[in-house]
Amino acid sequence: MRNVSDLTSFIDGLPKAELHVHHVGSASPRIVAELAERHPGTVPSDPDGLREFFAFRDFAHFIDVYLAVVELIRTPEDLRLLTYEIAREMAEGQSLRYAELTCTPYTSVMAGIPIEGYTEAIEDARVAAERDFGLMLRWIYDIPGESGVAAADATLSYALDHRTDALVGFGLGGPEIGVPRPPFRPHFDAARAAGLHSVPHAGETTGPETVWDAVRELGAVRIGHGTSSVRDPELLAHLAEHRIPLEVCPSSNIATRAVANLSEHPITAFRDAGVVVTVNSDDPPMFGTTLNREYEIAAALLGLDAAGVADLAVTAVDASFAPDDVKDRLRTEIQDYAPYDVLGVGSGTSSGLSRRWLGPYDVLGVGSGTSSGLSRRWLGPHDVLGSGLGVCRDVIRIEP
Ligand SMILES: [Zn+2]
Repeated sequence: MRNVSDLTSFIDGLPKAELHVHHVGSASPRIVAELAERHPGTVPSDPDGLREFFAFRDFAHFIDVYLAVVELIRTPEDLRLLTYEIAREMAEGQSLRYAELTCTPYTSVMAGIPIEGYTEAIEDARVAAERDFGLMLRWIYDIPGESGVAAADATLSYALDHRTDALVGFGLGGPEIGVPRPPFRPHFDAARAAGLHSVPHAGETTGPETVWDAVRELGAVRIGHGTSSVRDPELLAHLAEHRIPLEVCPSSNIATRAVANLSEHPITAFRDAGVVVTVNSDDPPMFGTTLNREYEIAAALLGLDAAGVADLAVTAVDASFAPDDVKDRLRTEIQDYAPYDVLGVGSGTSSGLSRRWLGPYDVLGVGSGTSSGLSRRWLGPHDVLGSGLGVCRDVIRIEP
């Protein structure tokens, strides 16, 4: 594995989009301290005590931390604070410009916050965050699978009857073992019919059959984790062919033991199979990570240089549900940040090569898979692939 320490500052400042990150799971010790001051008694509110409380030990402890934070969110004002402060940390700490935040309104409604208050609080925070931090937030409402069809009914109603324009996706989280996917099909059918994108978690703690269910039963257009897909070549081919991206969260996968250790992480196998890979942080403070750190890990695993990392950032934009003009703006921002001089160094492999980098002359098309550090720089103004492109190792697809 290559040393990526020289990439750290590049990654820190790289404008990014994140597609798989949980609302409550993004509460940092600083934010929890503020909530704990409001509602004393359950978790420590002093910084040192909180840091210790937060330090990731094992999955059972993570659940304890998560539930303790859930317990601190009792009013719409708590939700507003949580959401706004998460956005601050995303924008200021991680150079995020766009994030699809997975929210579980069912949990808050069960805790006594009416859905009207819930929606108003997160929307208020969203508008303020965009104004104050330049971060665009979008929502994915997910069903806590362990709470069954009743939670799915309620979540669908929150999504459709209390809809905000910023709601873009409908998800399914919680444990996979013992929670079959097909009973949720009617909910996903209804959400999709209303224009929401299907983005369930799948194949994190169960096998590839759950990913097949997500695709066939729930109409998934992106998969949360999808880790066990690596065990089924036919599934990988399907994901690649239909360009169904995986939301990969390396540190989370280690924390939950979905993957034994980083050197065994299947992200490279996904890339090599031509699957669109995005990199995400899941529940970053609770897994002791950040999105920047996840990009570093991915760069090390995939052998990426700065150009490859920039491509990874573009892939997340491409796979997002942002409006087209926002996607264009973000791609341009990434491109401007990553000057052509650092692009196309030729080492490493880039995932999800985007048309954007190729400019108006390309015959490359969407080009998922394994191009080697390819960038506009290499193509020049007249290029079709071939001449002068010794660095291009492999082009997966050429569209007519
Ligand atoms: Zn997740």
